[in-house]
Amino acid sequence: MTKRLGIIGGGQLGMMITEAAKNLSECISEITVLDPTENCPAAQVGAKQIVGDFKDELAILKLAEQSDIITYEIESGNTDVLSKLKAKIEPSPSTLGIIQDKFSQKTFLSENELPVSQFYEITSLGDLYEKIKELGLPVLLKSRRDAYDGRGNFKITSSDEIENAYQHFDGKSLMVEKFVNFKMEVSVIAARNTKGDITTYPLVENIHENNILKMTIAPARVSDNVISNAGNIAKKTMEVLKGAGVFGIEMFIDQDDNIIINEIAPRVHNSGHHTLQSCKTSQFEQHIRAILGLELGSTDLVHKTVMCNILGPDGFEGKYKPVVLEKGGVYLKMYGKSVSKPQRKLGHFNVVDLSDSKDVSELLKTADEIKNSILINPLD
Ligand code: ATP
Ligand code: MG
Repeated sequence: MTKRLGIIGGGQLGMMITEAAKNLSECISEITVLDPTENCPAAQVGAKQIVGDFKDELAILKLAEQSDIITYEIESGNTDVLSKLKAKIEPSPSTLGIIQDKFSQKTFLSENELPVSQFYEITSLGDLYEKIKELGLPVLLKSRRDAYDGRGNFKITSSDEIENAYQHFDGKSLMVEKFVNFKMEVSVIAARNTKGDITTYPLVENIHENNILKMTIAPARVSDNVISNAGNIAKKTMEVLKGAGVFGIEMFIDQDDNIIINEIAPRVHNSGHHTLQSCKTSQFEQHIRAILGLELGSTDLVHKTVMCNILGPDGFEGKYKPVVLEKGGVYLKMYGKSVSKPQRKLGHFNVVDLSDSKDVSELLKTADEIKNSILINPLD
């Protein structure tokens, strides 16, 4: 029997879930997304759209009427409303509730003996001074909710910045954590289906600039020992978290090769975009398989791949000329966002080692050349 799929959020992640769902037409009859932007990226590839805020109760109820199963591409959904719905929600609202608050997420992970950086809830400026005395500097002061692309983080490196950092958040609920002097950021994309089967994709390396993911290198250039430790931590995380779907598990590798979990996203993840070409099953197809209780697909990395995000340049906001890119082994994906804004994710491209003969350094060189050739130019 086919199901009607509802997705909260119709940005690029919702768009790529929609595309994967359309390829599984024997299981999914129609796709509806809830998104505040008219003609959002998912609507441009065939999803029906309800225009409304992600947290708007009436809009969510309308989505539920049109869906047999609901999933999401953002973690800031309204868990109170979601838990009252008759439609099936995956991952479950209770898992979403734990993850969408960074403090409750870290508490959950440490209670399950998973490695995280030392952290505290912060309830006042005095409290922050006290906790910093214990942790030492630097620390990261983080908004507990609704953060993305590092926009809810403030790094405090000297004590004269403490008050400023606290005021910056203007009364939001906060947590603080010890800064990890990492040598690499990595992630594992993992999936669990409704039957409890778990799969993990190979460990990848993530390069951030200004807190935003710039590049993912698949596979990560680390020792077998690190690969095995990270894989075990990812599996253990999936065993304790309830709910079906794809999860992005972001981790640090510290100077002594210890793995520390940074955070978990209860959804498909930017560091999994390489799977569109590098693996037999993309993370988007895997997500649908997981929430529908189908058998999970192969997660083997078939081709080494470098993924680069295409971000809106600083100092320009407006419509831009189409981006074209034609080069063998390079796959461009633009998200159909009509307006560029500084650091906005407009698209990505994958440089794929189709001949399986190249070194990662060659892929990185090609990625760099392409990155420099792609220009986001105003549409005149
Ligand atoms: P995203 O949407 O990119 O996942 P986010 O807004 O949820 O980001 P985090 O993942 O908490 O924010 O942090 C963004 C980046 O800030 C991390 O990828 C990492 O580079 C850096 N960062 C976060 N926490 C720490 C830490 N404790 N020590 C060192 N760096 C950190
Ligand atoms: Mg993050």
